[in-house]
Amino acid sequence: MAASTVTARVCETTSCSKDAKLQCPTCIKLGIPGSYFCNQECFKSFWQEHKKVHKKAKNEAKTIEQQLLEHQKSLWAGVRFTGPLRPGTVPEMRTVPDHIPRPDYASHPEGEPLSERAMRGNNSIRILTDEEQEGVRQACRIGREVLDIAAKTIGIGVTTAEIDTAVYDACIDRQCYPSPLNYYCFPASCCTSVNEVICHGIPDSRKLEDGDIVNVDISVYYKGYHGDLNETFFVGNVDEKYKKLVKTTWECLDLAIKEVKPGVRYRDIGGVIQKHAQAHGFSVVRSYCGHGIHQLFHTAPSVPHYAKNKAIGVMKPGHCFTIEPMINEGTWRDETWPDKWTAVTEDGKRSAQFEHTLLVTDTGCEILTRRLEKDGQPHFMDLK
Ligand SMILES: [Zn+2]
Ligand SMILES: [Zn+2]
Repeated sequence: MAASTVTARVCETTSCSKDAKLQCPTCIKLGIPGSYFCNQECFKSFWQEHKKVHKKAKNEAKTIEQQLLEHQKSLWAGVRFTGPLRPGTVPEMRTVPDHIPRPDYASHPEGEPLSERAMRGNNSIRILTDEEQEGVRQACRIGREVLDIAAKTIGIGVTTAEIDTAVYDACIDRQCYPSPLNYYCFPASCCTSVNEVICHGIPDSRKLEDGDIVNVDISVYYKGYHGDLNETFFVGNVDEKYKKLVKTTWECLDLAIKEVKPGVRYRDIGGVIQKHAQAHGFSVVRSYCGHGIHQLFHTAPSVPHYAKNKAIGVMKPGHCFTIEPMINEGTWRDETWPDKWTAVTEDGKRSAQFEHTLLVTDTGCEILTRRLEKDGQPHFMDLK
């Protein structure tokens, strides 16, 4: 590194004052500046003394590592986990190359979506122009490609951070920004929600285990528009009762989508979902809803998945929104881990979810995030 700028260095050896151009290889490796010697002999003779510098640097590096571990420990100290799942370590946040267009929150220090916040309290639902419809359509199609790539990585022993890496790479390859990244400071490119995690799980170092279920939620921002979808996947051999939970959740989304057409009230979607979930002995999460989506990631309408809700609005051609029911084995109640994101079931029992982005047409809706293979069926059904 910049060897040419080096001027008159003096040998490190105390008794020597000759010019020095040789740098200690260990120091280079450890990133210790200085440490030049005139020749091998001097270096060797001074070794006993010099190596103390290495030891000191290594000890300092260790304290940083220990500090990180302690920080991790203090974050989770005294936490009452509701189920068997434990967090792993979260890798460093990624940055997106400058040439890729990004939403406003991407470069906000607190990750605040200012354009979304400006619309808060405004319940009017945008009717998208043909051009805008084509914009979300393209974003959704890319989102689908990214989810299909993520699906291929899933297996026993794979970490959720590895899934996130595949998602990030697939987004960058397609010139799109992974919407979750830095959204209110979310540290990853997708959400990975394992077993009792309802949604918003942060990809980390935990390896997927035989019998797990994992939801991968993908949102991408492409040429000014967001697309959003998710699926729940099986890892290895999944117990029949969890298979039933996942299948029922898929059916809930499927039945809800069949309701979508102009004139239907957004508040009526939840009834269809809850009826089907309850018929199978499952419950519906109430804290998280479907949402309008276009140039904004989350906006009006709000689409609750439970019955007897008070959602505002009636569907019209050109409305674009998600339906994304989260269905639980046990209680519908949720709580959030101290990482401020991970939503888990209060009783630690499992939860599943599926999501599509929909565009209301004159007669029904277009499933913008539909899988192009296998007649649109979700990946978990491929195994049967
Ligand atoms: Zn999503
Ligand atoms: Zn969503």
